[in-house]
Amino acid sequence: MKLLKDKVMSEGIVLGNQVLKVDSFLNHQMDPVLMKEVGKEFARHFEGEQITKVLTIESSGIAPAIMTALELGVPMIFARKNKSLTLKENILVEKVYSFTKQETNEITVSKKFLDENDRVLIVDDFLANGEAAFGLARIVEQVGAKVAGIGIVIEKSFQPGARRLKEAGYRVDSLVRIAALENGTVTFVDDQTN
Ligand code: 5GP
Repeated sequence: MKLLKDKVMSEGIVLGNQVLKVDSFLNHQMDPVLMKEVGKEFARHFEGEQITKVLTIESSGIAPAIMTALELGVPMIFARKNKSLTLKENILVEKVYSFTKQETNEITVSKKFLDENDRVLIVDDFLANGEAAFGLARIVEQVGAKVAGIGIVIEKSFQPGARRLKEAGYRVDSLVRIAALENGTVTFVDDQTN
């Protein structure tokens, strides 16, 4: 997706050779016009998949996920990272190791928002090792629902998440794919989805 690639090039900050900081448009300040286009793009990718729900994880997945859900005309659910006081029973729980925080969190979704008839599109901001996406997929599968696809805004293809998810049988569509983050420079995978 050219608009997103241009934004990563102009505003992304490379930290070490593993992490890309995009807090000017995705992870802190959010660009609503770009998020709207991201939503349209995911909706276009998955329009044939009869998606019934979009599922993400708080907080940075929420903006791309809500825009995608708006385009698809379905609800969006975000998994919570901290247990809500009002969400104690009838919850789906999975453990997820956080790449950026380097700690394991329990993520939770209320059982009332997913059932076995759902075809769920998982959306997240970044894909690194795939822990967040696998955790969300396990939540969907706990209720017997189907993971119809995984939409990623920025895939770091030099990390194993995309390969692991594809090997597990999931469809992964990423809007930009990064081959390397080295010497402060972003290199994109040539055959990126656009
Ligand atoms: P994974 O679970 O695939 O290992 O990592 C994905 C999660 O970690 C995403 O939800 C995202 O919040 C965070 N993450 C992973 N890599 C990066 C990165 O390079 N930059 C930022 N901002 N977040 C990342």
